[in-house]
Amino acid sequence: MKSLNDLRFDNRFARLGEAFSTPVLPEPIADPRLVVVSTAALALLDLDPAVVDDPTFVEVFAGHKLWAEADPRAMVYSGHQFGSYNPRLGDGRGLLLGEVVNDAGQHWDLHLKGAGQTPYSRQGDGRAVLRSSIREFLASEHLHALGIPSSRALCVTASSTPVWREKQERAAMLLRLAPSHVRFGHFEYFYYTQQHERLKELAEHVLSAHFPHCLERPDPYAAFFREVVERNAELIARWQAYGFCHGVMNTDNMSILGITFDFGPYAFLDDFDADTICNHSDHEGRYSFSNQVPIAHWNLSALAQALTPFVEVEVLRETLGLFLPLYQAHYLDLMRRRLGLTQAEEQDQALVERLLKTLQGGAVDYSRFFRELGESAPAQALARLREDFIDLAGFDAWAQDYLARCAREGGKQDARRTRMHAVNPCYVLRNYLAQQAIDAAETGDYSEVRQLHALLSQPFDEQPGMQRYTERPPEWGKHLEISCSS
Ligand code: AMP
Ligand code: MG
Repeated sequence: MKSLNDLRFDNRFARLGEAFSTPVLPEPIADPRLVVVSTAALALLDLDPAVVDDPTFVEVFAGHKLWAEADPRAMVYSGHQFGSYNPRLGDGRGLLLGEVVNDAGQHWDLHLKGAGQTPYSRQGDGRAVLRSSIREFLASEHLHALGIPSSRALCVTASSTPVWREKQERAAMLLRLAPSHVRFGHFEYFYYTQQHERLKELAEHVLSAHFPHCLERPDPYAAFFREVVERNAELIARWQAYGFCHGVMNTDNMSILGITFDFGPYAFLDDFDADTICNHSDHEGRYSFSNQVPIAHWNLSALAQALTPFVEVEVLRETLGLFLPLYQAHYLDLMRRRLGLTQAEEQDQALVERLLKTLQGGAVDYSRFFRELGESAPAQALARLREDFIDLAGFDAWAQDYLARCAREGGKQDARRTRMHAVNPCYVLRNYLAQQAIDAAETGDYSEVRQLHALLSQPFDEQPGMQRYTERPPEWGKHLEISCSS
């Protein structure tokens, strides 16, 4: 177990030089206080959980102190935002402090979000507010616990430093961990500025650091693109199966690793509605829940465009064609498991589609539906769930087929329950739960954030005394508008 001083750095991205990132020092925030820490994330760096008791911990993660071996940098990238190309984005309020190598030899980027202005800040203040930092922290660690690939979060620090959004708020910092912070937009930046030599350097870095197995293939860049397509197909299948709406799928928010990245006004669905738009400045619903699948494909084609100097267009096109079938296969597999089915049958896709159609527009809580479906034997569970449906004819027809399907599966209810509860969470990060924790945190009480984090880190295990966290949202919490400012 290590202390902060024992961390070993190997700053591979920084060594690519100043065409890729600019050295910038963090600007500290005043009177820092530790809001919440992820012990699981500490373990990724081999850090002793006791490091948080050392006053240095909060100082480091509020930008007051830095390791001598860190080499803090703002990365340059561009990207498509809501379908339009923005030629210059970059880290406007976050810094890659450095890459830590753990005892297992894995590299983890330490990225401090809210670390002050950089050459890419444009009109922005370089800061992050407490509420958005808490939201990113909770979501990162929760998604990971749900088995959905995500960047991770080590801690959030709060401060007395004022920042202006719709009203005055307080600055905070979030320490994000990921094996890489390279986005689709990094490739787009070097492609559209016609720096093809740099683009090659970037691709070589990404391949050797993160996709070394692709280097052994006859066409390494084509193999790399194929893997990015595969990883994204799986990622989006998981989002759709678990009802996660990202909200801002711009290409600068898409990780090259196929992990959930850059959280904005995301939401987990409460009542099922495929048309959910969680970003209230997304007037056309470009990033609505059901659009996440075609948008991921669109984003991958934007990345493909940036790879045209190295990979034949026909190969890129064929690879893009793999996305939808791969997505559908992953999605069906996940949904079967959520329904407690272990065998594959031809009608399964239709069974899932009909369920979603019946859920659509009714007032059925998406997460609770699956958890309750596994709680008791199928007929009993369905009889209870029926009360929640409006489309009773649709539900009855579906329930009959599902019952027949369960009968063909056979097996004991105990085993079915265990199997289903292992994939259907008891606790999900509902917006109203995050909001309650944030409201308390704004008054300096961090207990609810910590409680929620602990619970959501083990979302499948029912914990005593925590019944209220499984409840459907109260009226006020059903249609919360989450501000896009962050
Ligand atoms: P985001 O919406 O967080 O994905 O950010 C989009 C772009 O705007 C990125 O280049 C960010 O670095 C930049 N940005 C967002 N908020 C700020 C801020 N408060 N100050 C400076 N840059 C920002
Ligand atoms: Mg972003």
